[in-house]
Amino acid sequence: MAQRFENVKHLGNPTNTIEVLQKYGFSFQKKYGQNFLIDENIVRKIVREAGVTADDFVLEIGPGIGTMTQILCEEAREVVAVEIDKKLIPILENDTLKFYDNVTVINEDVLKLDIAKLAEERNSGRPIKVVANLPYYITTPIIMGLFESGVPLSSVTVMVQKEVADRMQVGPGTKDYGALSLAVQYYAKPQVVLTVPASCFMPRPNVDSAVIRLSRYEKPPVQVCDEKLMFGIIRASFNQRRKTMTNSVCGCTELGISKEQLAAALEKCGLPTAVRGEALTLEQFAELVNALKS
Ligand code: SAM
Repeated sequence: MAQRFENVKHLGNPTNTIEVLQKYGFSFQKKYGQNFLIDENIVRKIVREAGVTADDFVLEIGPGIGTMTQILCEEAREVVAVEIDKKLIPILENDTLKFYDNVTVINEDVLKLDIAKLAEERNSGRPIKVVANLPYYITTPIIMGLFESGVPLSSVTVMVQKEVADRMQVGPGTKDYGALSLAVQYYAKPQVVLTVPASCFMPRPNVDSAVIRLSRYEKPPVQVCDEKLMFGIIRASFNQRRKTMTNSVCGCTELGISKEQLAAALEKCGLPTAVRGEALTLEQFAELVNALKS
């Protein structure tokens, strides 16, 4: 059960963060994308936007010294926090999280962790919530890994680079529209819920940041007969986004689609032969694949 911990020293401010860092002689590792939050208001807003309740099992990716983990422990039923940096583990276990009995810290690379198995074992396979201030260098593999590996998810609420958050929620006709937008929108409804200035982090990142909530669809918003082929076509289209699909898609040998096959499918969908992938919506990509396979 979530509990109130009046005596816990919350870390979401510069003084308490520096005190912990100095106590353990901790130095930031750039290679792990370590930018810790130092603003409790922001931390609470993220947890609120994630809709965490006392029924929830929450996975936090990269707890750092535990700034957001503390608040998650107070709001959720159970928290699992996965941290790659072994120097942070004693800080979390022996110090900043020691008052909480509903948290488990795992010292592991999240990209190597079987999260579906974790959800099965710890939450009886019921949907989990993911909440994190992500290490920006692996934002895309983390998010796509969560969606593609069949993890039972209810939502993913994460701090990412603002530019990446924008890319996830746009549609055709913008320069940010790409394979990531389509992949995310196939699995979830994206919504940017907060923009966060660099002054809220220690050290300050040199990019703008935003929190995006991805609410998982129970079933995808489009019906496609071959998901793998659709994402192959999407990737090929955006790898060479200024080329027509006839050149980008048919030029990709692994897809094995001839110009004649593509032309027939485009015609069936009422799309011009010289269309570029960047002009197509998710629905149109799905329709095209269904036409190719029919
Ligand atoms: N949650 C903390 C906060 O908001 O103050 C820290 C966020 S910091 C942006 C990212 C965290 O992810 C760091 O603690 C870093 O060590 C951890 N991290 C980086 N790569 C990771 C990986 N592959 N698996 C798990 N954790 C990772």
